[in-house]
Amino acid sequence: MTASDWLHEQFDPTGSAIGFRVVRKLDQVQSPFQKIEIYESTDWGNVMLIDGAMMVTTRDNFLYHEMMSHPALFTHPDPKRVVIIGGGDCGTLREVLRHPGVETAVQCDIDEQVTRMAEKYFPELCESNGDPRAQILFDDGIAYMANCAPGSVDVVIVDSTDPVGPAEGLFNKAFFESCFRALRDDGILVQQSESPLALLDLIREMRAEMGKAGFTSFQTLPFPQPCYPTGWWSCTLARKSGGFDFREEDARAKAFETKYYSAAIHKGAQALPPFVARALDA
Ligand code: SAM
Repeated sequence: MTASDWLHEQFDPTGSAIGFRVVRKLDQVQSPFQKIEIYESTDWGNVMLIDGAMMVTTRDNFLYHEMMSHPALFTHPDPKRVVIIGGGDCGTLREVLRHPGVETAVQCDIDEQVTRMAEKYFPELCESNGDPRAQILFDDGIAYMANCAPGSVDVVIVDSTDPVGPAEGLFNKAFFESCFRALRDDGILVQQSESPLALLDLIREMRAEMGKAGFTSFQTLPFPQPCYPTGWWSCTLARKSGGFDFREEDARAKAFETKYYSAAIHKGAQALPPFVARALDA
C-alpha cells in the first residue's frame, strides 16, 4: 500500500462511494459477529470499518457522537440513567458522561472487539471508560433492553450499525417496545437513522415501527457526516408523549466544550428540509 492508495465504501443504492486516501492497514480482526478493519489515512486520522462500512474516523466522528447524545440529553428535563445500545467505539459514552447530572451510563455492545480496537486506535474516544458512572457490557442489545426494569431509564441511545446482521433487530417494533417499557414517562429514545438523502423510506418505516411500539412524538435531526454514505446522516428521537420543543435556552446550560453542537445548533437541528418533512409527514 502506498500513500496514494484509496479506500472506498461503495454505496449501491445511490451509486456513490465515500473514500479516504490511506497510508496503510493497521489491523484487522474477524470477530464472531463482523469483520473490523483499521486504516491509517493521510488526512482523516485512523479509520474503522465494520464489514466494509465506514464507522469512525478520527477527524469527523465528533459530528455523529455529539448529535447522538446532546440534543436528547439537553431536551430531557433531568437525564440521570442512560443506556447506549451498540456504541462500542465509546464516543457516544464519552459525550453522555460530559453531563454532570448523569448518574449511570450503561453501554451494551454485542462485540467486545470493537471496543478493544477503539481503545487501541481511538484512545481519545475511550477516555471516559474509567468513569465510575460508566458500565461497559458486551451482550446483545436486544436482550439487554428486553430485560431492563420497566420505567428505569431516562434516555436510550441506539448507536448501531446499519440494519443488517446483528443490528437488524434494533430497528423493529419488538425492540422499540422493550425501549418503551424501559423508559420513564418523560424518557427519550434516540436511534441513528441513516442518510436522509438516500434512505428516507427506512427513516419513515423506523418511525412507524416506533409508533406501533407506543411512541407518539418523533423528531428526526439531520447532520453532516462526511464518512457515511452521501455525507449526510440523521438520528431520530422518540417520546411517549409531550412532543419535542428544541429550545436554545435548554442547551445554554452546557458547561463543557463541544466542536459541532451548540445552543444555536440545538435549536436549528429540528429544522427539516421540505423534501424530508414531506416524506416523513413531519
Ligand atoms: N456510527 C456508526 C454508524 O452509524 O454506522 C455505528 C457505530 S458502531 C459503534 C455500531 C455498533 O453496534 C458496533 O460496535 C456493533 O457491534 C454494534 N451492534 C450491532 N448490533 C448490535 C446488537 N444487536 N446489540 C448490541 N450492539 C450491536
